[in-house]
Amino acid sequence: MPIMVLPAPDIAVIPLQQHIGAPCEPIVAVGDRVKMGQMIGQASQFICASVHASVSGQVIAIEPRSLANGNKVPCVVIKNDGRDEMALGTKHTDLKKLSASDIRQAVKDAGIVGMGGAGFPTHVKLTPPKPVDTILINGAECEPYLTCDHRLMVERAPEMVQGLLAIMKAVGAEKGIIGIEANKPDAIAEVQKVIAEYSNLSVASLQVRYPQGAEKQLIKAILGREVPSGGLPADVGCVVSNVHTAIAVYEALMKGKSSYERVVTVSGGAVVDPRNVLVRVGTPIEDLFEFCGGFLGQPEVVICGGPMTGWEIKDLSGPVVKNMSGVLALTREEAAFDENHPCIRCGRCVDSCPMGLTPNLLGEYSDKGMYSEAEQLHLKDCIECGLCSYVCPAKRALVTWIKKGKAGLAAEKAKGKVS
Ligand code: SF4
Ligand code: SF4
Repeated sequence: MPIMVLPAPDIAVIPLQQHIGAPCEPIVAVGDRVKMGQMIGQASQFICASVHASVSGQVIAIEPRSLANGNKVPCVVIKNDGRDEMALGTKHTDLKKLSASDIRQAVKDAGIVGMGGAGFPTHVKLTPPKPVDTILINGAECEPYLTCDHRLMVERAPEMVQGLLAIMKAVGAEKGIIGIEANKPDAIAEVQKVIAEYSNLSVASLQVRYPQGAEKQLIKAILGREVPSGGLPADVGCVVSNVHTAIAVYEALMKGKSSYERVVTVSGGAVVDPRNVLVRVGTPIEDLFEFCGGFLGQPEVVICGGPMTGWEIKDLSGPVVKNMSGVLALTREEAAFDENHPCIRCGRCVDSCPMGLTPNLLGEYSDKGMYSEAEQLHLKDCIECGLCSYVCPAKRALVTWIKKGKAGLAAEKAKGKVS
């Protein structure tokens, strides 16, 4: 569905951590007046991203608040005055006049993070450890239900392409390729129209398959390059950026706009009127469902992200954050919950794993706390696509256990229990 604009919330709750890395430090105090787009939390370390007010008004609290996942995180709470007074950064008119460090600094100041779900600070991504020759824009959007990137490519392709050119300049890449699954012909047509004047840009029409949009799979599908185990895209000369992130880069450079709003897909069989919605960060998730007509009965589960990689939303009053691509309210039939049964050693999970892993063993070891054993079977190479759990006839919660195993391994390493 075309993108619609959700009215701003009366109260915006802006978490000081909406990204991978350290939380940022508040730079406003209770009682301060803030403008929309004004920085209110500053990046405290290199792997960190600043946060900005999404409404103008008064700061009424700086305190821990519950996020949608139930975790409490320090937040800046702003009472919206309804004036939408803007605080804009520098607006540039000519990308050619900007240096690579100008672009990285503007991206950092705007608090841009990977908006496809990862939430990795973009200015860090634009500082790759190795030379990069190609930037890939990930327009695959291969998970069921999610269509926000699809609509953005249809409606805002010129901005995405300008963002891509800026990212290429920031990392010194010569080529840019936009990978789009073949089931989005309208997006392919729009993007092709825009890139016609650039000889160094192209569109790769991709086979429709899951998980085509996973970073490593996308690189293999478009460039035929294989990211080594434990490696980064820069190890094979490329950087991957999401569609929405590229648009945010354009907005930061050309409009002086920080990252305080995003498009979210609101969908699932339990939603009356599924839509794509442009929403301010800090808006309660329940407002999105209300905007889409509410629920058709009680949903079985509400998920943040897609049904394969997303996680359960426990608190609908939690705020929208920068890397929230979708919220799905699923019916019992869609959720297809079932009990775990013993493994019957059918091998379907092994056959389906796009990373060539043994999910049955990774799941067992992780569930039993045998993290070293799981690590030896390349636990960290799991991209958490969820295919193993999806195909398992015994309905084993393999990806859930694997995620716990990764967290357990990291915790043990931090304590020095595992080398
Ligand atoms: S979630 Fe399962 S199928 Fe996907 S990469 Fe990990 S182990 Fe393989
Ligand atoms: S798909 Fe399920 S039952 Fe089959 S081997 Fe994997 S874990 Fe066992």
